[in-house]
Amino acid sequence: MRKPIIAGNWKMNKTLSEAKSFVEEVKNVVPSNEAVDTVVCSPAPFLGQLVEAAKGTNVAIGAQNMHFEENGAFTGEVSPVALEDLGVQYVILGHSERREMFNETNDSVNKKTLAAFKHNLTPIVCCGETLEEREAGKTKDLVADQIQKAFAGLTDEQAKQAVIAYEPIWAIGTGKSSTAQDADEVCGHIRKIVAESFNADVAAAVRIQYGGSVKPENIKEYLAEENIDGALVGGASLQPASFLGLLEAIS
Ligand code: PEP
Repeated sequence: MRKPIIAGNWKMNKTLSEAKSFVEEVKNVVPSNEAVDTVVCSPAPFLGQLVEAAKGTNVAIGAQNMHFEENGAFTGEVSPVALEDLGVQYVILGHSERREMFNETNDSVNKKTLAAFKHNLTPIVCCGETLEEREAGKTKDLVADQIQKAFAGLTDEQAKQAVIAYEPIWAIGTGKSSTAQDADEVCGHIRKIVAESFNADVAAAVRIQYGGSVKPENIKEYLAEENIDGALVGGASLQPASFLGLLEAIS
């Protein structure tokens, strides 16, 4: 069966010392790697030091974004080559905050997804609808379009390894989470789209997270659903106690 994956997205929070003490506090108490993949996605400046701090433990370090180009005149951008070189293992791509505030498009997410695989990074590809789109009944078509475009050109093997995060935008950081049943229905639809775009084996293997106001108190409801394989978590990933609380739901 699919191994659960719990990823924290710290967004633009923490100082280096706060980031390091978080990793020190959780790194020896997270569950085993056989039970769950545990990922901490930190701001870019801390990545190298966090990779060192987490070495040999079951905590993998992820970035929150990157450029698709390897190098060149892209002032302020982070290269996939640099992430690979640092030992970063995951990268969040197409988060709604980047789509809304930093002009991320389905096309750039696709280029970044391809670049991630070229550099041994596992992409966590985000999709999700606004409240307006949901109320207009567009959720399924919209996430299907986002995932089909993000995954264009991937091999079957790559598509199996990729992680998808379904994050309804109206549920991110608002305290308003989707019901587990509604989230599962959309994740099931995403799995169907992956089966149509690739094949049934890929669809059975690809891991789909739910994200949007997940916390220790509600994570079990999501993980109990057939098509939900983990969570991408913002607010509740910031403190060691609540991050560990999320992971407790696995055991
Ligand atoms: C996120 O940042 O991807 C997220 C889901 O945030 P929160 O858990 O705070 O809603």
